[in-house]
Amino acid sequence: MKDYTLEQLSLLLKSKGEDSLLLREKANILTEKIYGKNVYLRGIIEFSNLCKKDCLYCGIRKSNNQVSRYTIKKEEIKELIKKSYQDGFRTIVLQSGEVDVHDKDITEIIEYTKKNFDMAITLSVGERKREKYYEWKKAGADRYLLRIETTNRELFKKLHPDDDFDVRLKALLNLKELGYETGTGVMIGLPGQTFDDLAKDIMFFKIYDFDMLGVGPFIPHHQTPLKDERPPDFELVLNFIALLRLVTINTNIPATTSMATLDKEGREKALNSGANVIMPNYTPQEYREKYQLYDNKICLKEDERSTLKITEETVKKAGKTLVKERGDRREKLITDIPIGI
Ligand code: SAH
Ligand code: SF4
Repeated sequence: MKDYTLEQLSLLLKSKGEDSLLLREKANILTEKIYGKNVYLRGIIEFSNLCKKDCLYCGIRKSNNQVSRYTIKKEEIKELIKKSYQDGFRTIVLQSGEVDVHDKDITEIIEYTKKNFDMAITLSVGERKREKYYEWKKAGADRYLLRIETTNRELFKKLHPDDDFDVRLKALLNLKELGYETGTGVMIGLPGQTFDDLAKDIMFFKIYDFDMLGVGPFIPHHQTPLKDERPPDFELVLNFIALLRLVTINTNIPATTSMATLDKEGREKALNSGANVIMPNYTPQEYREKYQLYDNKICLKEDERSTLKITEETVKKAGKTLVKERGDRREKLITDIPIGI
Protein backbone atom coordinates (compact mmCIF):
# COMPACT_ATOMS: atom_id res chain seq x y z
CA MET A 1 0.00 0.00 0.00
CA LYS A 2 1.35 3.29 -1.03
CA ASP A 3 0.91 5.96 1.62
CA TYR A 4 -0.38 9.12 0.03
CA THR A 5 1.16 12.45 0.91
CA LEU A 6 -1.06 15.45 1.57
CA GLU A 7 -0.06 16.90 -1.80
CA GLN A 8 -1.03 13.70 -3.60
CA LEU A 9 -4.38 13.51 -1.82
CA SER A 10 -5.11 17.11 -2.60
CA LEU A 11 -4.29 16.56 -6.27
CA LEU A 12 -6.34 13.35 -6.51
CA LEU A 13 -9.34 15.12 -4.99
CA LYS A 14 -9.30 17.40 -8.02
CA SER A 15 -9.56 14.47 -10.48
CA LYS A 16 -12.05 15.03 -13.27
CA GLY A 17 -13.66 12.85 -15.96
CA GLU A 18 -11.56 9.80 -16.82
CA ASP A 19 -9.14 10.37 -13.95
CA SER A 20 -11.97 10.48 -11.46
CA LEU A 21 -13.50 7.30 -12.93
CA LEU A 22 -10.16 5.52 -12.66
CA LEU A 23 -9.69 6.53 -9.04
CA ARG A 24 -13.20 5.38 -8.17
CA GLU A 25 -12.73 2.11 -10.02
CA LYS A 26 -9.60 1.40 -7.95
CA ALA A 27 -11.56 2.08 -4.79
CA ASN A 28 -14.37 -0.20 -5.96
CA ILE A 29 -11.93 -3.04 -6.67
CA LEU A 30 -10.52 -2.74 -3.17
CA THR A 31 -14.01 -2.56 -1.64
CA GLU A 32 -15.06 -5.75 -3.43
CA LYS A 33 -11.84 -7.46 -2.39
CA ILE A 34 -12.78 -6.81 1.23
CA TYR A 35 -16.59 -7.09 1.26
CA GLY A 36 -17.42 -8.82 -2.00
CA LYS A 37 -20.53 -7.20 -3.43
CA ASN A 38 -22.12 -6.90 0.01
CA VAL A 39 -23.75 -3.65 1.06
CA TYR A 40 -24.77 -3.47 4.72
CA LEU A 41 -28.13 -2.10 5.73
CA ARG A 42 -28.74 0.32 8.64
CA GLY A 43 -32.04 1.99 9.44
CA ILE A 44 -32.03 5.52 10.78
CA ILE A 45 -34.75 6.87 13.09
CA GLU A 46 -34.68 10.66 13.45
CA PHE A 47 -36.51 10.65 16.75
CA SER A 48 -36.34 14.35 17.70
CA ASN A 49 -35.48 17.67 16.08
CA LEU A 50 -35.03 19.57 19.35
CA CYS A 51 -31.59 21.16 19.39
CA LYS A 52 -29.81 23.59 21.69
CA LYS A 53 -27.06 24.36 19.18
CA ASP A 54 -26.74 26.77 16.33
CA CYS A 55 -24.41 25.13 13.82
CA LEU A 56 -24.49 27.59 10.92
CA TYR A 57 -25.26 25.06 8.20
CA CYS A 58 -28.07 23.10 9.83
CA GLY A 59 -31.79 23.45 9.10
CA ILE A 60 -32.89 22.42 12.59
CA ARG A 61 -30.51 24.76 14.42
CA LYS A 62 -31.91 26.37 17.55
CA SER A 63 -32.45 29.79 15.95
CA ASN A 64 -34.60 28.46 13.15
CA ASN A 65 -37.96 29.29 14.67
CA GLN A 66 -39.82 28.20 11.55
CA VAL A 67 -39.22 24.57 12.41
CA SER A 68 -42.02 22.83 14.20
CA ARG A 69 -40.34 20.79 16.89
CA TYR A 70 -41.18 17.16 17.70
CA THR A 71 -39.99 14.21 19.72
CA ILE A 72 -41.27 10.72 19.00
CA LYS A 73 -42.57 9.12 22.20
CA LYS A 74 -40.38 6.38 23.58
CA GLU A 75 -43.10 3.74 23.26
CA GLU A 76 -43.46 4.63 19.58
CA ILE A 77 -39.67 4.42 19.11
CA LYS A 78 -39.69 0.95 20.67
CA GLU A 79 -42.45 -0.13 18.28
CA LEU A 80 -40.47 1.25 15.34
CA ILE A 81 -37.39 -0.69 16.40
CA LYS A 82 -39.48 -3.85 16.68
CA LYS A 83 -40.90 -3.25 13.21
CA SER A 84 -37.46 -2.56 11.77
CA TYR A 85 -36.24 -5.86 13.21
CA GLN A 86 -39.15 -7.65 11.53
CA ASP A 87 -38.21 -5.89 8.28
CA GLY A 88 -34.77 -7.43 8.56
CA PHE A 89 -32.71 -4.55 9.95
CA ARG A 90 -29.87 -5.65 12.21
CA THR A 91 -28.57 -2.15 12.94
CA ILE A 92 -30.66 0.80 13.95
CA VAL A 93 -29.31 4.34 14.23
CA LEU A 94 -31.03 6.70 16.66
CA GLN A 95 -30.40 10.29 15.63
CA SER A 96 -31.59 13.66 16.97
CA GLY A 97 -30.59 17.24 17.54
CA GLU A 98 -28.45 17.88 20.61
CA VAL A 99 -30.39 18.20 23.87
CA ASP A 100 -30.13 16.12 27.01
CA VAL A 101 -33.82 15.91 27.91
CA HIS A 102 -34.18 12.46 26.31
CA ASP A 103 -31.07 10.92 27.82
CA LYS A 104 -32.91 8.66 30.25
CA ASP A 105 -35.32 7.49 27.57
CA ILE A 106 -32.37 6.69 25.33
CA THR A 107 -30.98 4.39 28.04
CA GLU A 108 -34.35 2.68 28.36
CA ILE A 109 -34.67 2.23 24.59
CA ILE A 110 -31.18 0.72 24.34
CA GLU A 111 -31.99 -1.72 27.16
CA TYR A 112 -35.31 -2.64 25.57
CA THR A 113 -33.69 -3.29 22.20
CA LYS A 114 -30.80 -5.35 23.49
CA LYS A 115 -33.14 -7.45 25.64
CA ASN A 116 -35.54 -8.26 22.82
CA PHE A 117 -33.67 -8.24 19.54
CA ASP A 118 -30.33 -9.32 18.20
CA MET A 119 -29.39 -6.02 16.63
CA ALA A 120 -26.73 -3.33 16.88
CA ILE A 121 -27.63 0.10 18.22
CA THR A 122 -25.88 3.20 16.94
CA LEU A 123 -26.40 6.55 18.64
CA SER A 124 -26.01 9.90 16.89
CA VAL A 125 -27.16 12.45 19.43
CA GLY A 126 -24.17 14.75 19.76
CA GLU A 127 -21.62 15.61 22.44
CA ARG A 128 -22.01 14.35 25.98
CA LYS A 129 -19.82 13.86 29.02
CA ARG A 130 -17.82 10.65 29.20
CA GLU A 131 -20.09 9.38 32.04
CA LYS A 132 -23.15 9.51 29.79
CA TYR A 133 -21.36 7.68 26.98
CA TYR A 134 -20.33 5.10 29.60
CA GLU A 135 -23.91 4.70 30.82
CA TRP A 136 -25.18 4.09 27.29
CA LYS A 137 -22.38 1.64 26.55
CA LYS A 138 -23.23 -0.29 29.70
CA ALA A 139 -26.88 -0.33 28.63
CA GLY A 140 -25.77 -2.04 25.41
CA ALA A 141 -25.12 0.64 22.78
CA ASP A 142 -22.68 -0.64 20.17
CA ARG A 143 -21.72 2.32 18.01
CA TYR A 144 -21.71 6.11 17.98
CA LEU A 145 -21.63 8.64 15.16
CA LEU A 146 -20.25 12.07 15.85
CA ARG A 147 -18.88 14.00 12.93
CA ILE A 148 -15.89 16.25 13.40
CA GLU A 149 -17.47 18.21 10.47
CA THR A 150 -14.10 19.70 9.43
CA THR A 151 -10.58 19.33 10.81
CA ASN A 152 -9.77 22.93 9.92
CA ARG A 153 -9.97 24.45 13.40
CA GLU A 154 -10.64 27.96 12.16
CA LEU A 155 -13.46 26.84 9.92
CA PHE A 156 -14.80 24.64 12.71
CA LYS A 157 -14.96 27.67 14.97
CA LYS A 158 -16.72 29.81 12.40
CA LEU A 159 -19.40 27.20 11.79
CA HIS A 160 -19.98 26.18 15.40
CA PRO A 161 -20.76 29.07 17.74
CA ASP A 162 -21.46 26.61 20.58
CA ASP A 163 -18.58 24.19 20.10
CA ASP A 164 -14.90 23.75 20.65
CA PHE A 165 -12.81 21.57 18.34
CA ASP A 166 -10.84 19.99 21.19
CA VAL A 167 -14.00 19.11 23.10
CA ARG A 168 -15.38 17.41 19.98
CA LEU A 169 -12.16 15.48 19.46
CA LYS A 170 -12.03 14.48 23.12
CA ALA A 171 -15.62 13.20 22.86
CA LEU A 172 -14.59 11.03 19.92
CA LEU A 173 -11.59 9.68 21.79
CA ASN A 174 -13.75 8.94 24.83
CA LEU A 175 -16.13 6.97 22.62
CA LYS A 176 -13.28 4.94 21.18
CA GLU A 177 -11.79 4.28 24.57
CA LEU A 178 -15.15 3.11 25.93
CA GLY A 179 -15.29 0.47 23.22
CA TYR A 180 -17.84 1.98 20.87
CA GLU A 181 -17.37 1.36 17.18
CA THR A 182 -16.83 5.02 16.53
CA GLY A 183 -17.90 6.86 13.44
CA THR A 184 -17.03 10.36 12.40
CA GLY A 185 -17.00 12.36 9.20
CA VAL A 186 -17.00 15.74 7.53
CA MET A 187 -19.08 17.75 5.16
CA ILE A 188 -17.58 18.23 1.72
CA GLY A 189 -17.82 21.65 0.09
CA LEU A 190 -18.23 23.81 3.18
CA PRO A 191 -17.85 27.52 2.45
CA GLY A 192 -14.17 28.40 2.74
CA GLN A 193 -12.99 24.77 2.79
CA THR A 194 -9.99 24.01 0.55
CA PHE A 195 -8.72 20.82 -1.15
CA ASP A 196 -5.88 20.80 1.37
CA ASP A 197 -8.42 20.86 4.20
CA LEU A 198 -10.15 17.83 2.72
CA ALA A 199 -6.84 16.03 2.26
CA LYS A 200 -6.08 16.68 5.93
CA ASP A 201 -9.51 15.35 6.89
CA ILE A 202 -8.63 12.04 5.21
CA MET A 203 -5.28 11.92 7.04
CA PHE A 204 -7.09 12.63 10.31
CA PHE A 205 -9.42 9.64 9.83
CA LYS A 206 -6.46 7.41 9.09
CA ILE A 207 -4.36 8.57 12.04
CA TYR A 208 -7.14 8.13 14.60
CA ASP A 209 -8.34 4.89 12.99
CA PHE A 210 -12.06 5.58 13.23
CA ASP A 211 -14.32 2.64 12.38
CA MET A 212 -16.99 4.36 10.33
CA LEU A 213 -16.74 7.37 8.06
CA GLY A 214 -19.99 9.13 7.28
CA VAL A 215 -19.39 11.96 4.86
CA GLY A 216 -21.59 13.91 2.52
CA PRO A 217 -21.87 17.13 0.57
CA PHE A 218 -22.72 20.36 2.35
CA ILE A 219 -26.14 21.39 1.03
CA PRO A 220 -27.45 24.85 1.92
CA HIS A 221 -30.69 25.20 3.85
CA HIS A 222 -32.77 28.28 3.02
CA GLN A 223 -33.43 29.20 6.66
CA THR A 224 -29.79 29.30 7.76
CA PRO A 225 -27.01 31.90 7.55
CA LEU A 226 -25.40 29.80 4.79
CA LYS A 227 -28.47 29.91 2.55
CA ASP A 228 -26.69 31.66 -0.33
CA GLU A 229 -23.75 29.27 -0.48
CA ARG A 230 -23.41 26.52 -3.07
CA PRO A 231 -23.05 22.75 -2.74
CA PRO A 232 -19.91 21.13 -4.20
CA ASP A 233 -19.53 19.28 -7.51
CA PHE A 234 -20.66 15.73 -7.02
CA GLU A 235 -17.45 14.43 -8.57
CA LEU A 236 -15.53 15.84 -5.62
CA VAL A 237 -17.76 13.91 -3.22
CA LEU A 238 -17.08 10.69 -5.15
CA ASN A 239 -13.33 11.35 -5.28
CA PHE A 240 -13.39 11.89 -1.53
CA ILE A 241 -15.17 8.58 -0.89
CA ALA A 242 -12.77 6.73 -3.16
CA LEU A 243 -9.79 8.15 -1.31
CA LEU A 244 -11.36 7.33 2.05
CA ARG A 245 -11.52 3.70 0.98
CA LEU A 246 -8.03 3.62 -0.50
CA VAL A 247 -6.46 5.24 2.54
CA THR A 248 -8.43 3.73 5.45
CA ILE A 249 -9.08 0.35 3.77
CA ASN A 250 -11.42 -1.60 6.12
CA THR A 251 -13.72 1.13 7.43
CA ASN A 252 -17.49 1.20 6.99
CA ILE A 253 -18.44 3.96 4.58
CA PRO A 254 -22.13 4.72 3.94
CA ALA A 255 -23.72 6.02 0.78
CA THR A 256 -25.76 8.79 2.42
CA THR A 257 -29.12 10.40 1.73
CA SER A 258 -27.45 13.76 1.10
CA MET A 259 -25.63 12.21 -1.87
CA ALA A 260 -28.94 11.31 -3.50
CA THR A 261 -30.15 14.86 -2.91
CA LEU A 262 -27.29 16.28 -4.97
CA ASP A 263 -27.35 13.64 -7.72
CA LYS A 264 -30.31 11.36 -8.46
CA GLU A 265 -27.97 8.40 -8.80
CA GLY A 266 -25.65 9.61 -6.09
CA ARG A 267 -25.92 6.57 -3.90
CA GLU A 268 -25.44 4.11 -6.76
CA LYS A 269 -22.33 6.02 -7.77
CA ALA A 270 -21.06 6.10 -4.19
CA LEU A 271 -21.58 2.33 -3.89
CA ASN A 272 -19.32 1.96 -6.92
CA SER A 273 -16.68 4.32 -5.55
CA GLY A 274 -15.84 2.77 -2.18
CA ALA A 275 -19.00 2.92 -0.06
CA ASN A 276 -20.19 -0.37 1.48
CA VAL A 277 -23.11 0.67 3.68
CA ILE A 278 -26.55 2.13 3.00
CA MET A 279 -28.63 3.90 5.61
CA PRO A 280 -32.28 4.36 4.61
CA ASN A 281 -34.54 6.59 6.61
CA TYR A 282 -36.79 4.65 8.99
CA THR A 283 -38.51 7.72 10.43
CA PRO A 284 -42.34 7.67 10.10
CA GLN A 285 -43.50 9.90 7.26
CA GLU A 286 -45.32 12.43 9.47
CA TYR A 287 -42.04 13.58 11.06
CA ARG A 288 -39.82 13.69 7.98
CA GLU A 289 -40.76 17.21 6.84
CA LYS A 290 -39.61 18.48 10.22
CA TYR A 291 -36.16 16.93 10.11
CA GLN A 292 -34.67 18.80 7.20
CA LEU A 293 -31.02 19.46 7.92
CA TYR A 294 -30.65 20.74 4.34
CA ASP A 295 -32.94 21.65 1.43
CA ASN A 296 -34.50 19.11 -0.94
CA LYS A 297 -33.91 16.13 1.29
CA ILE A 298 -35.25 13.01 -0.43
CA CYS A 299 -37.86 10.53 0.86
CA LEU A 300 -40.00 13.15 2.62
CA LYS A 301 -43.23 11.76 1.21
CA GLU A 302 -42.45 8.10 1.82
CA ASP A 303 -43.01 5.80 4.73
CA GLU A 304 -40.51 3.38 6.27
CA ARG A 305 -41.31 0.41 4.10
CA SER A 306 -41.36 2.22 0.76
CA THR A 307 -38.00 3.78 1.58
CA LEU A 308 -36.66 0.28 2.24
CA LYS A 309 -37.98 -0.86 -1.13
CA ILE A 310 -36.27 2.02 -2.92
CA THR A 311 -33.07 1.18 -1.06
CA GLU A 312 -33.24 -2.40 -2.27
CA GLU A 313 -33.62 -1.12 -5.84
CA THR A 314 -30.75 1.35 -5.43
CA VAL A 315 -28.37 -1.38 -4.31
CA LYS A 316 -29.46 -3.63 -7.14
CA LYS A 317 -28.94 -0.86 -9.68
CA ALA A 318 -25.44 -0.43 -8.33
CA GLY A 319 -24.82 -4.12 -9.11
CA LYS A 320 -24.41 -4.97 -5.43
CA THR A 321 -26.17 -7.22 -2.91
CA LEU A 322 -28.02 -5.85 0.08
CA VAL A 323 -27.23 -7.87 3.18
CA LYS A 324 -29.29 -7.71 6.31
CA GLU A 325 -26.52 -8.34 8.80
CA ARG A 326 -24.99 -6.25 11.57
CA GLY A 327 -21.99 -5.41 9.43
CA ASP A 328 -19.53 -4.71 12.24
CA ARG A 329 -16.20 -3.27 11.21
CA ARG A 330 -14.15 -6.01 9.62
CA GLU A 331 -10.73 -6.82 10.85
CA LYS A 332 -8.00 -5.77 8.48
CA LEU A 333 -6.42 -8.81 6.88
CA ILE A 334 -2.99 -8.65 5.41
CA THR A 335 -4.49 -9.78 2.09
CA ASP A 336 -6.72 -6.68 2.06
CA ILE A 337 -3.76 -4.45 1.64
CA PRO A 338 -3.58 -3.53 -2.00
CA ILE A 339 -0.41 -3.70 -3.95
CA GLY A 340 0.31 -1.05 -6.49
CA ILE A 341 -2.60 1.22 -5.78
N1 SAH B 1 -27.13 16.65 16.31
C1 SAH B 1 -26.30 15.53 15.97
C2 SAH B 1 -26.90 14.64 14.91
C3 SAH B 1 -27.78 15.28 13.87
S1 SAH B 1 -26.98 16.26 12.68
C4 SAH B 1 -24.94 16.03 15.55
O1 SAH B 1 -24.81 17.19 15.18
O2 SAH B 1 -24.02 15.22 15.59
C5 SAH B 1 -26.21 15.02 11.68
C6 SAH B 1 -25.28 15.53 10.64
O3 SAH B 1 -25.99 16.24 9.64
C7 SAH B 1 -24.25 16.53 11.11
O4 SAH B 1 -23.15 15.86 11.67
C8 SAH B 1 -23.91 17.29 9.82
O5 SAH B 1 -22.69 16.84 9.26
C9 SAH B 1 -25.07 16.95 8.89
N2 SAH B 1 -25.68 18.19 8.35
C10 SAH B 1 -26.29 19.17 9.04
N3 SAH B 1 -26.62 20.19 8.21
C11 SAH B 1 -26.22 19.84 6.97
C12 SAH B 1 -26.26 20.48 5.69
N4 SAH B 1 -26.78 21.70 5.53
N5 SAH B 1 -25.74 19.82 4.63
C13 SAH B 1 -25.24 18.58 4.77
N6 SAH B 1 -25.15 17.93 5.95
C14 SAH B 1 -25.64 18.55 7.04
FE1 SF4 C 1 -28.04 20.59 16.20
FE2 SF4 C 1 -26.63 18.59 15.08
FE3 SF4 C 1 -27.88 20.49 13.61
FE4 SF4 C 1 -25.73 21.17 15.02
S1 SF4 C 1 -25.79 19.70 13.31
S2 SF4 C 1 -27.64 22.34 14.89
S3 SF4 C 1 -26.00 19.88 16.85
S4 SF4 C 1 -28.82 18.96 14.89
